[in-house]
Amino acid sequence: MGDHDILFEPVRIGPKVAPNRFYQVPHCNGLGHLRPAALAAMRGIKAEGGWGVVCTEEVEIHPTSDLSPYVEGRLWDDADVPGLRLMTDAVHAHGSLAGIELTHAGLDSANDYSRLTPIGPRSEGVLVGGGFEPRQTRAMTKRDIADVRRWHRNAAIRARDAGFDIVYCYAAHGLTLPMQMLSRRHNDRTDEYGGSLVNRVRFLRELIEDTKDAIGDDCAVAVRLAVDELLGPEGITHDGEAPEILAMLAELPDLWDVNVSGWSNDSATSRFAPEGHQEPYIAFVKSMTTKPVVGVGRYTSPDSMVSAVRRGVMDLVGAARPSIADPHLPNKIREGRTEEIRECIGCNICVATDPKSLPIRCTQNPTMGEEWRRGWHPERIEVRRTSAEVMVVGGGPAGLEAARAPGARGHRVQLLEARSRLGGRVDREALLPGLAAWRRVVDWRLGEIGRLAGVELYPASPTTAADVLDAGARHVVVATGAVWRRDGRGRSTGAAVPGHERTGVLTPDDVLDDLVAGTWSLPVGRVVVVDDDHYVMGGLLAELMARNGHEVTLVTAAPLVSFWTQYTLEQERIETRLRSLGVRVVVRETVARIEDDRVVTQSVLDGRERSIPRDQVVLVGDREPETSLHDALSPALADGRLGSLRLVGDADAPGLIAHAVFAGHLAAREFGEEVDPDVVPFRRERFTLPSPRGGARSGGR
Ligand code: ADP
Ligand code: SF4
Repeated sequence: MGDHDILFEPVRIGPKVAPNRFYQVPHCNGLGHLRPAALAAMRGIKAEGGWGVVCTEEVEIHPTSDLSPYVEGRLWDDADVPGLRLMTDAVHAHGSLAGIELTHAGLDSANDYSRLTPIGPRSEGVLVGGGFEPRQTRAMTKRDIADVRRWHRNAAIRARDAGFDIVYCYAAHGLTLPMQMLSRRHNDRTDEYGGSLVNRVRFLRELIEDTKDAIGDDCAVAVRLAVDELLGPEGITHDGEAPEILAMLAELPDLWDVNVSGWSNDSATSRFAPEGHQEPYIAFVKSMTTKPVVGVGRYTSPDSMVSAVRRGVMDLVGAARPSIADPHLPNKIREGRTEEIRECIGCNICVATDPKSLPIRCTQNPTMGEEWRRGWHPERIEVRRTSAEVMVVGGGPAGLEAARAPGARGHRVQLLEARSRLGGRVDREALLPGLAAWRRVVDWRLGEIGRLAGVELYPASPTTAADVLDAGARHVVVATGAVWRRDGRGRSTGAAVPGHERTGVLTPDDVLDDLVAGTWSLPVGRVVVVDDDHYVMGGLLAELMARNGHEVTLVTAAPLVSFWTQYTLEQERIETRLRSLGVRVVVRETVARIEDDRVVTQSVLDGRERSIPRDQVVLVGDREPETSLHDALSPALADGRLGSLRLVGDADAPGLIAHAVFAGHLAAREFGEEVDPDVVPFRRERFTLPSPRGGARSGGR
């Protein structure tokens, strides 16, 4: 410990004391009010892992703040208390404090489930979802304001009764009424809640005072405030209105939780923002209040955390993603096991499930969201009494996880990788612009494997079925990955692209080969990148080409560049970056054929064709699973020479790195188990159904 002792000092927060400085700030998770047992298990494991404070996600206080279809917390009435009580009990069981982020979303809720009228500072289009919902708010009347204050107060009392220690007034991310009231962009009221900053602060001040009055003796009252919207003088800025707001409210709450807004700025990916990126914006806060301050910045390094505390940037080190990737991060620091920290890679796959209303998942931590339904723990995996020998072929994320986890269970594992370097696609893709942190997927697994006695790694070992059988392997996991298709077949083309065999037509693998070799063999010229993948690869290659002096056109059949990155909060940044690099963007077109000097594209709307001159073309289509080893071994399984044979990861079905890690982990958990394909492989939460005769009956399981 030693150097990191300061992180384990208790911190008083109003009437409560946090046992240390590790503070899991509120974060969405798609479990929320629909899956309270899963939520409690996930939060409980963070408390077990040493997070001194564990908070909820945003929790709706009333049906006029109905965030459906997003699955957030809900505290509309007393019936919602028992679900949240599961969480506070799970957190308290480990001596941590539980915090709740009470939310009235104002113009960020369309109330599509409750069908009540949305309310906001003025009448304007609601901002929820994609931001284009065809509905406006009602400008809040005085009666509405009094109602919201009462709902917030009642929710605070219910929160206390549910066992929460810290209760938030939430004015951040642009997502809540108090922040919308602060904002000149949304608040042009002419009453005492609009106009001057004193007036715009009034509503937040009243909420804080109401909350203190209702529960201030029992609970700490926190304010989460956006101190910069990164909109320049249009918005709240850290050197503009934010210090003025702080000056007005400095000593009123028991805790300041401060960050930048909106969510895509706060949860910026590692491609666009480094660890500690919020410090320049939040650093002023501590000088303006005697109350403890919590800040975030994707801190995974204990030295950076200590530094942030010592430099007086924050008292409590806030974390959402680092706590998702490693729920036991604080314990590892306390026990001097810092090299075991499973560092967040900053990819936002955890964020991506929230807009899909799905349980949270994480690239680095395959157990995230599976704590209750599969009974998985991020640090413990059942050790087998009888050790088996397992051969894993392929050293990408799936293979490394499929070797690490059985190794941790006490099996003897040999991993064979054709290339001289381990890491598979991650080792290569981490060379793309801004993706260096993705390498942590490999680094952490190699570190863990290095500490396991029973796992042996054999790089530079291209492996055939004969090799496997000659070695006498009984149990084989095939994780041989996938290659990008050379013919450009993808979801918009549906078939091989005519002309794909011409010179100058490349796949992402060709470009990655160049990066690995450290050479750039492409003559500078006009490049057309055809993106039929729609996650990061197409945009990254366009960026790379543009940075290397090529004249780049990016063609996508989707309505947006890198369409799926909307879910990781990156789409706008990617498009902005590409445009700033001079990349020409063509949407809603696919490739019809490739000629020697041009690509002929075709509108996906009306089929109209046009020509784009080219020297090179990069086809980012489907990937081809590398199943040949698995197929060659299948007869040996059938005739009993192999005891088990399993195909995992991209070789099974190409997808995200997160899919590959999960597949490797699942294979390890299921190794040696009888898995009945007719049985649903996890528990589900069911609700009490109303009986036709009144009363209620259980939905059962
Ligand atoms: P995944 O994402 O499923 O882990 P990757 O493509 O990242 O897939 O990794 C697959 C790895 O398998 C690559 O590093 C590749 O070199 C390796 N590989 C493929 N075929 C063989 C083989 N026959 N013998 C050994 N290694 C192989
Ligand atoms: Fe970090 Fe990615 Fe995991 Fe989210 S999904 S916690 S960003 S590693």
